[in-house]
Amino acid sequence: MDKKAMYKLTYGLFILTAKEEEKDNGCIVNTVTQVTTEPNRITVAVNKKNYTHDMILRTGTFNVSVLTENSRFETYRHWGFQSGAETDKMEGITFQRAENGIVYIEDQCNAYISAKVVSATDLGTHTLFLADVTDARALADEESVTYSYYQKNIKTAPKTEGKKGFVCTVCGYIYEGDTLPEDFVCPLCKHPASDFKKL
Ligand code: FE
Repeated sequence: MDKKAMYKLTYGLFILTAKEEEKDNGCIVNTVTQVTTEPNRITVAVNKKNYTHDMILRTGTFNVSVLTENSRFETYRHWGFQSGAETDKMEGITFQRAENGIVYIEDQCNAYISAKVVSATDLGTHTLFLADVTDARALADEESVTYSYYQKNIKTAPKTEGKKGFVCTVCGYIYEGDTLPEDFVCPLCKHPASDFKKL
């Protein structure tokens, strides 16, 4: 099998937000897809290690903010490479609230979609949420970012000079050690050992 074929699939990048009682949280996902128009439904696969995942599982509602080509690496670091379980991701962030009470982001995004979960399918590492679109609004004319555009134009190369071990090719986290355990999961971005490269 040629795994490179998988890279030919296109993906967008999104800030997925949820709210549980007084807690707001969000993470980065690349798996939002509209699956039907009548009814208007989307799916999103969310890694179970994300705190946002648990919040959506419990509350059944979420928002998706669509990131643009003008988004900055710092934004991905903020939403993607730290956990909402330990930090307040809303600190220092300018945000708005949709009708469902959940945060959406206007800065560096061109639209938001509010959704209500119809079903949750256990995929092992992820849960696939199928959801009804309950509200949606376009915010700007800028192009939506694709994962390949992000890889080529937004992502900053990690600083690895003089370091030994393995680097996460997704977020730049460095694992120091001679062997990387097969079941290792990046503590920052939750990607598996197969996404690490030996330095
Ligand atoms: Fe990582």
